[in-house]
Amino acid sequence: MKITGIGAAAICMMPRIAFAARNSLRSMRTGVQPGNKTRLVIETATRPTYTLSYPENQLVVRLANTAANASLSPAMAAGTLISGISQAQVGDALEIRANLTRPISEIPKSQIMVLSPNGDTDYRLVLDFSAGAASGAAKHDAAQQIAAAAPARKYTIVIDAGHGGKDPGCIGKGGTKEKVIVLAVAKKLKNKLDAAGFKTYLTRSGDTYLKLAERAAIAEKHKGDLFISLHANANPSRSMKGFSIYTLSEKASDEEAQKLADAENAADKIDVSGFSEFSKDIRIALSALQQHAVAELSEEYAMGCAKTFRSSGIEQQPGANVRHAPFAVLRSTVPGALVELGHLSNAAEEKLLKSESHQNKLANAIVKSIKKYNFDV
Ligand SMILES: [Zn+2]
Repeated sequence: MKITGIGAAAICMMPRIAFAARNSLRSMRTGVQPGNKTRLVIETATRPTYTLSYPENQLVVRLANTAANASLSPAMAAGTLISGISQAQVGDALEIRANLTRPISEIPKSQIMVLSPNGDTDYRLVLDFSAGAASGAAKHDAAQQIAAAAPARKYTIVIDAGHGGKDPGCIGKGGTKEKVIVLAVAKKLKNKLDAAGFKTYLTRSGDTYLKLAERAAIAEKHKGDLFISLHANANPSRSMKGFSIYTLSEKASDEEAQKLADAENAADKIDVSGFSEFSKDIRIALSALQQHAVAELSEEYAMGCAKTFRSSGIEQQPGANVRHAPFAVLRSTVPGALVELGHLSNAAEEKLLKSESHQNKLANAIVKSIKKYNFDV
């Protein structure tokens, strides 16, 4: 996820012409995120250039070259740290002042996102923050706020166990089939996500063959918030091991990623450059604009997933944290990633992938990565 926060110095260096088109404020809303974080979302017509400041009991977002929108009333959720929001035009800039019920410290970059439009929305500057050091009394307030907050909606995760039926996927030296391993992990993942309060669907719950476009269509049908396709890898080099994570792109990030996409796409010989296999609705939904936003969200999830796998002590295949390739199964409007859980071509990893404890470790890491993912922006 790219974070855009161009400081004043950068603005001065930009040619005047860049300001010909003025940005405008479209909407503002607040919400409560997991961990009782307050979320402030500011929508603008074009990509915002912003600075943040923290006067006493306020958060001020200064949007460069932006017009105020006096008729706009922010949508305020219950249970946030924001008691009110006002706008003030200061020269070319628009200052948005959020009055806070409790002091906050500087919002770290990792809690700031700028997202591109995704069909229903404009550009979104998303700020997540929690209260600063809390006293005993303040903690009590926070507890009351949690109780007052509306319950978050259930997020829908579609879990895709790769291959199945007549298509075994890759086969380890010991005879372990990819389709069996990924289904075992998918089922464990479903149980754990259900227990954690998510709504989940499996693309297949038995040893059945499904076309790649059918898997993508299942994610669409259930209006998934996230789609996770599980696979295991094989490499001509038997010493190669570790997990790897991929997102969709037209161009592969490297030759190996392309080879892998070719191998996975071969499951149903689909022509990934054409959309013919997909329903008309999906083809329309896959406009360039929407694809861009889906790609951004997918990348954000995939980066977080790779990080969580590493911190869970799961070995990573050497190379980039997230790689890209034209995987047919990821071609939908649902953000997602394809996870190669490990190498069946490596004897030690084949043994690991077969073990219940390692399958649980993998599923736990994915649950953790999903909990960390930013839904609803
Ligand atoms: Zn596979």
